[in-house]
Amino acid sequence: MSARAILVVGGGISGITAAVEAAEAGRQVVLIEKSPFLGGRVTRTHLYFPKLCPPACGLEINYKRIRNNPAITVLTQAELESLAGTPGSYQATVKIAPRFVTSACTACGACAEACPAERPDDFNYGLKKTKAAYIPAANAFPPLYAIDRPACPNGCRACVDACRYGAIDLDQPVERRTFDVAAVIAATGWAPYDAAKIDNLGFGRHPNVVTNVIMERMAARDGPTGGRILRPSDGRPPRSVVFVQCAGSRDDNHLPYCSAVCCAASLKQATYVRTECPEADVSIFYIDIRAGGRLEDFYARVAADDCIKLIKGKVAKVEAAEDGDLLVTAEDALQGRKRSHRASLVVLATGIVPQSGGLPAGFVRDEFQFLPGAGGRAGLYSAGCVRRPEEVMASVQDATGAALEAIQDVVRGAVHG
Ligand SMILES: Cc1cc2nc3c(=O)[nH]c(=O)nc-3n(C[C@H](O)[C@H](O)[C@H](O)COP(=O)(O)OP(=O)(O)OC[C@H]3O[C@@H](n4cnc5c(N)ncnc54)[C@H](O)[C@@H]3O)c2cc1C
Repeated sequence: MSARAILVVGGGISGITAAVEAAEAGRQVVLIEKSPFLGGRVTRTHLYFPKLCPPACGLEINYKRIRNNPAITVLTQAELESLAGTPGSYQATVKIAPRFVTSACTACGACAEACPAERPDDFNYGLKKTKAAYIPAANAFPPLYAIDRPACPNGCRACVDACRYGAIDLDQPVERRTFDVAAVIAATGWAPYDAAKIDNLGFGRHPNVVTNVIMERMAARDGPTGGRILRPSDGRPPRSVVFVQCAGSRDDNHLPYCSAVCCAASLKQATYVRTECPEADVSIFYIDIRAGGRLEDFYARVAADDCIKLIKGKVAKVEAAEDGDLLVTAEDALQGRKRSHRASLVVLATGIVPQSGGLPAGFVRDEFQFLPGAGGRAGLYSAGCVRRPEEVMASVQDATGAALEAIQDVVRGAVHG
């Protein structure tokens, strides 16, 4: 690996973009991802706003760009353990957790069929289980199974015996590799805000209160319900669905900032409900609808549907009603009165929390733990939702910019180094 290489931490859409842009401009790139697959949160999304197309096509194009470019080294289940050196000349030590499945895997699934143990399916936010030998995501890249060793029964070797390709190595050790790199791009993304912390909205107490990320999985064909939007309590289609905007965001007790994507995400999810459950009525309670720029047309299109009501008012509480239903109490800001609304399913539009925890201290963090930029320290860059909450198109533009800045470091290093 050349000392002029670029390290990208985080293999979501931002990290993938930064990696392919830098590599296609002629740089060596190491892309590390802590989970067993690339794609990040986008792989868990049913459709993209505003076009409402499946994210799999865009991801597949990027995977092809990676496959076709020998300048990119992809390491999954990998995290940056330490970073020594100075801008333009870093030594990055990467810790790679064992997958227990080698590249000889053909993803035939025989290991999962033979496996007797189960684990919660984290890809689907625990809504179902997978075998301990599992494919981490539909269309996973790399297309390899993984073994969740802590979930395996003592001494079990059923997957090893079932694999005709000798692709399972239950003794695979942890590996460490050190790379000389000129610059590091952090693209570690976001996690959903923990809705259980918003006590008045009932998540965790009432099964029919779900979050927006759960709704993405419920609507997805490869999700736990096969794409059917059903109430968790009884598996029946909902008659009325309420979306609660700013569930945590723009709230000093939770996330004081706007998470930027939740309004467009709920408008989009309202269309999921209208497609899947055409009889259901949909209400979106909001403080302000923030769907600017190219999202304005999308907002207008969704708002024109008579079965989708947009109600300006902050939800005060969600309580249990009869038959598993919920009573949503909100202030109607335009009519200046309190209103109660019965719903059979409530979706909390929870916000975006930056995932900057596992990164070296040299990255400058703001008060909310976002990485706003290099902060004067050349050599360390950020892109995507770890920089600020943003949609996919903005993340891609951001990542392309970060790749350019990193390349400038490489070039400067070549001139001065
Ligand atoms: C409910 C919802 C629906 C949405 N729908 C849309 C939509 O329809 N259209 C749209 O444009 N946008 C949508 N978005 C926004 C979209 O999800 C983000 O723009 C996108 O995920 C940003 O990608 P990212 O790569 O920055 O972050 P992520 O997708 O979070 O990817 C980050 C990656 O980094 C990895 N990682 C984290 N920490 C480490 C570490 N320490 N070391 C190594 N790897 C690490 C993670 O495992 C992950 O793979 C939606 C958001 C929400 C909340």
